[in-house]
Amino acid sequence: MTTPCATCPSDVQDSSKSTLMRARSCCDDRDARHNESVKILLVEDDRSIAASVVDGLTAEGFAVEHVSTGIAALAATDYDMVLLDLGLPDMDGREVFRQLRARATTPIIMLTARAEEFDRVLGLELGADDYVTKPFSFRELVARVRAVGRRTVDAPPDTGAPDDAGSTQRIGELSLDRRTRRVYLGTEEILLTAKEFDLLAFLATATGAVLTRTDILENVWDAHWYGPTKTVDAHVASLRKKLGNHDWIQAVRGVGFRLESPA
Ligand code: CA
Repeated sequence: MTTPCATCPSDVQDSSKSTLMRARSCCDDRDARHNESVKILLVEDDRSIAASVVDGLTAEGFAVEHVSTGIAALAATDYDMVLLDLGLPDMDGREVFRQLRARATTPIIMLTARAEEFDRVLGLELGADDYVTKPFSFRELVARVRAVGRRTVDAPPDTGAPDDAGSTQRIGELSLDRRTRRVYLGTEEILLTAKEFDLLAFLATATGAVLTRTDILENVWDAHWYGPTKTVDAHVASLRKKLGNHDWIQAVRGVGFRLESPA
């Protein structure tokens, strides 16, 4: 491991901090510099959780703004990703989510308490990009943040699509532009969450063919995904709703899903 550089956050150099923090120095992590461009809005009223998340993400090279209420979250501007606690003192976290989502497709990762199974499922149905269950490990949180960031802040993922070079793929009325991550049905733009876009783009790599749940989970989520496979169904359901026709994505029982222009 290299010696912390002058720009390392001081807590990285402070040996009294946790083992996890000491194990990381910003300058021995290639991602750290890269993460500098990503601004994260953390909405969390629990002070100790917030403090450790802010310290940790800052050490990883992210810029973090922390607010502890729903009102403050809705007033915040200029961020690339939101980490949203569902249990807030002033507003229902789901309402904060709905209002944030109504404004923009900025990725939102929900922070949920273990017992809130209902919220977890509902969160994905609402269109959250991912969720982390408390108590979560910092390593897990960073993996999720990086994965969501890669899909949305960076260049589009290499999906191996037939016409990646031309960037726009057409399937019947549907146009999908991987470069700009925009989707149109005819001339009308369909606003998708980052995860919905990734799911659609992945299904579109093999239009008409059946892609298995395992393929979908591995490609659209990532190797760090430990969540329920029901997640795929929740995202398929929201995509179908936005595309306005259930037949765009056909379920093949026991196998997976197929994207096809409705007959
Ligand atoms: Ca809370």
